[in-house]
Amino acid sequence: MHAAVAVIYRKLVRDRIPELIRRKGGEPQTRRLTDKEFAVALARKLVEEAYEFAATPTAEELADVLEVLHALAEAIGLSLEEVEAVRRSKAAERGAFDDRLLLESVSFQEGAGKAWSPRTWPADWEARRAGEGCPMCAEGPSEVNGLGDQRILASAACDAYLSRREIVPGYAVAVWRGRHVSELTELADAEAADFDRSVRAVARALERHYQPAKLNFLTLGNAVPHLHVHIVPRYVTDPDPSKPPRFMMIDPPPGEQPLIPEDVYLADVAALRKLVDDFQPTWAQDARTSG
Ligand SMILES: [Zn+2]
Repeated sequence: MHAAVAVIYRKLVRDRIPELIRRKGGEPQTRRLTDKEFAVALARKLVEEAYEFAATPTAEELADVLEVLHALAEAIGLSLEEVEAVRRSKAAERGAFDDRLLLESVSFQEGAGKAWSPRTWPADWEARRAGEGCPMCAEGPSEVNGLGDQRILASAACDAYLSRREIVPGYAVAVWRGRHVSELTELADAEAADFDRSVRAVARALERHYQPAKLNFLTLGNAVPHLHVHIVPRYVTDPDPSKPPRFMMIDPPPGEQPLIPEDVYLADVAALRKLVDDFQPTWAQDARTSG
């Protein structure tokens, strides 16, 4: 007798997929999404199907996109005919794609072309990048971050938090502590080494606990320009093999995603803290308590 092994999907599937899984000898665990969850899941599904069509442009893949459009229209209380009417009026007003136009660039006289201002980043970006109103500096070293995530590592150089959102199991964020910096380039070599040691301690704990197929490290900071690293475990079952993690691009912000069940989350936090202690040299903890 073999022990049961569960592969985690957490994705929207067509109604008869559980039946197909059973026929192949699997035992699916499913639940019915709430209205809000369903709307989020459908929007994700639309992008998933669009990627699949881009990879394999067949009638079958296009039909998958159309199925999601049907469900999406219904979910927001519209018929596809009503959406089609809006499409026609937009096409009449702004044109369709008959001419296959690619917009290469737009030239304008400096100061004259307000409507074509090339700046797309916020007006206060430079100030925020320099630290003005920085939410991560304001928060400082804390047990729980602004999203309610629990800390799994605390060192002089870094606090790391495990996301309590159902995004990707083991998704964690390691925040640089110390003065405000927005880029790795602003750290002295010794500071970078300290930060890196902490990031690796977290990453090793995640590897041990979740056994992912790959770890992704993303230093982005395009929304909050304070140095932090997203550590994202990747699994052989995720929807985008060989691509960057999709949730950073297309999903709703983490604050709007459903929560991992509390008991599961707290058990993961406890296990990771213990593993981090094994991987993190004691000097890092000493530095925090003595500093
Ligand atoms: Zn900051």
